[in-house]
Amino acid sequence: MNAPVYPNVQLYIDGAWCQAASGQTLPIVNPATGKQIGTHAYAEKADLDRALEAAAKGFDVWKRTSAFDRYKLMRKAAQLLRDRLDTIAPLMTMEQGKTLAEAKIEVAAGADTIDWFAEEARRAYGRVIPARAEGVYQLVIKEPVGPVAAFTPWNFPVNQIVRKLSAALAAGCSIIIKAPEETPASPAELIRAFADAGVPAGVINLVYGVPADISQYLIPHPVIRKISFTGSTVVGKQLASLAGLHMKRMTMELGGHAPVLVFNDADIDAAVKTMVGSKYRNAGQVCISPTRFLVQEGVYNSFVEKFSTAAKALKVGDGLDTNNQMGALANPRRSAAMEMNLEDATKHGAKIRAGGHRLGKDGNFFEPTVVTELPKSAKAMNEEPFGPMAIINPFKTFEEAITEANRLPYGLAAYAWTNSAKTAQAVATHVETGMMSINHLGLGIPEVPFGGVKDSGYGSEGGSEAIESYLNPKFVSQAGL
Ligand code: NAD
Repeated sequence: MNAPVYPNVQLYIDGAWCQAASGQTLPIVNPATGKQIGTHAYAEKADLDRALEAAAKGFDVWKRTSAFDRYKLMRKAAQLLRDRLDTIAPLMTMEQGKTLAEAKIEVAAGADTIDWFAEEARRAYGRVIPARAEGVYQLVIKEPVGPVAAFTPWNFPVNQIVRKLSAALAAGCSIIIKAPEETPASPAELIRAFADAGVPAGVINLVYGVPADISQYLIPHPVIRKISFTGSTVVGKQLASLAGLHMKRMTMELGGHAPVLVFNDADIDAAVKTMVGSKYRNAGQVCISPTRFLVQEGVYNSFVEKFSTAAKALKVGDGLDTNNQMGALANPRRSAAMEMNLEDATKHGAKIRAGGHRLGKDGNFFEPTVVTELPKSAKAMNEEPFGPMAIINPFKTFEEAITEANRLPYGLAAYAWTNSAKTAQAVATHVETGMMSINHLGLGIPEVPFGGVKDSGYGSEGGSEAIESYLNPKFVSQAGL
């Protein structure tokens, strides 16, 4: 296909697209070619002060806008996003590297998320508590927490924002989004859909800049009442401590290292087909990516064989070419991390059953990789590889598999394959995780909770739980005169 023209991305503050006050911009590079494709404006203190002032003003307007009117504007934005899918998806592929098919799914899913939260806006019910005295009404009223600061990463440029943005808007909050600098154009198009739908000035503000400088300034600022962050556990802990110091509400969606338990009685063909698709989606740069495959001895060899064959068959290349099934890694840091993991795995005596190398000279392409018999001491067994790397190890007993699944401090997603209802129930009970999908892929749709436990963070970005974290309960006890 003909690549679309990639824009020079601006900030969106107080209802207007603008350059930074300093006029500064930074380059954006296509990870498939290594070439610069555009620039983004670079916000500093003066721009952030304008965004904060706008968010305070926007909150005042939005919290008074009825839930029904918020719902209508959000539904309109969702439709505009859908209508523009074919223009937005190629921009995402050019800036992030994922295939066009994946980019289209992400934009379409973004529209569904907006729709769902729009509907939730109308159901942010409070309650009436029976009183101890006649004539007394005890009311619990749900109020928006206030202006939100959201920080989102580059792996899902639209979807990481849309969950936070839609929940905040549904609740009646305004928001300042620090979107990913490496993938800024598709987020800007998401915001444009809301702006064109008629969301009032100041309700949504979009900035890019130095992430640490922006979070250090916004989190303690008195205008900001809630923080939502998606990214690594290391950074999440820093931001959570800063937010804690200033008593700000938080949602933290952090790293994972998802175990996949495959039992002797599982449907191996279904498990391989589904898990290969899921592992190499977005080149493995997914917080819920299946990573530590624990396969019971009876089916281990056949699982490894079938999984490796399917991984080798995947076509890798520029995501704009619709023949390709896996695109480039989003930035050179990820290809470097993959090489480091593979070198370390080899030193630890692991077997490389598929892939293991960079592809081509230009761009951040890496082969879909399968590593087996990797000891617990290896780097990739402990740190999220965040790339196209599946680790497969055998286990004997149920207890052994559960111990390994729970060994790491992470607890975001987990998967299991078994034909026994008893085993399925036991796995769901014993694995320490925020989300569990058994015998199929069932995570990440708007109406279900999305979040982790332990070092994977807290709070939910899906389901009715997600809007709750943008609402304060206010208790009013009222006696008749
Ligand atoms: P990183 O850890 O520095 O950044 C991760 C994200 O956090 C980026 O979007 C970045 O802009 C943001 N960030 C970093 N420091 C920040 C700060 N002080 N304030 C606000 N935002 C900040 O490095 P990276 O190379 O981009 O990613 C490395 C690791 O992060 C990955 O290997 C993966 O483990 C994790 N990650 C997780 C997700 C996720 O979906 N949970 C997404 C992207 C990256």
